[in-house]
Amino acid sequence: MSGTGRASEGTPAIATVSDLYAEALALETEAAERYADLADQMETHNNREVAALFRKLAEIEARHAEALRARAGGPLSGAGGAARQRGDRSETAPFDDAHYLMTPAHALRLALASEERAEAFFRELADTGIDAEVRRLAQAFMAEEREHIELLRVWLSKYPAPPSGWADDPDPPVISE
Ligand code: ZN
Repeated sequence: MSGTGRASEGTPAIATVSDLYAEALALETEAAERYADLADQMETHNNREVAALFRKLAEIEARHAEALRARAGGPLSGAGGAARQRGDRSETAPFDDAHYLMTPAHALRLALASEERAEAFFRELADTGIDAEVRRLAQAFMAEEREHIELLRVWLSKYPAPPSGWADDPDPPVISE
């Protein structure tokens, strides 16, 4: 909007295809790690069903990152982490939203929100990118994120909405410091 060359909000500093690959790879790698962390966290709390879902999401994102790495061909230069530098992690499920009693529906909604952020990130780039090839590729990445979103929606349709009072624990964990 300011057009001064400084990346303003929502317009990441991604000028080249290589920047875009680096950024997409950073996003997917981070998402994979985050989902794996969430899976660990849920396992710690014996929330096996949700742990399994996060584990599966972690695998999907890790495979996606692998594919990106292969497709990128050469070493990735540039601005991996533009989104992180903006302080807005496009495809990350924030830990703060994770609750040890969360149901599969919660977990999936959390994941859905982060996939939607990733989709929006690529969509904006597809619309406003400076370079035609960057726009084309951003379009392709956006389509992949849409597949993730679709998958999550299918999963979500299988799980009932969490009952009210889902966070009430009759036997809460003892917190010792
Ligand atoms: Zn994704």
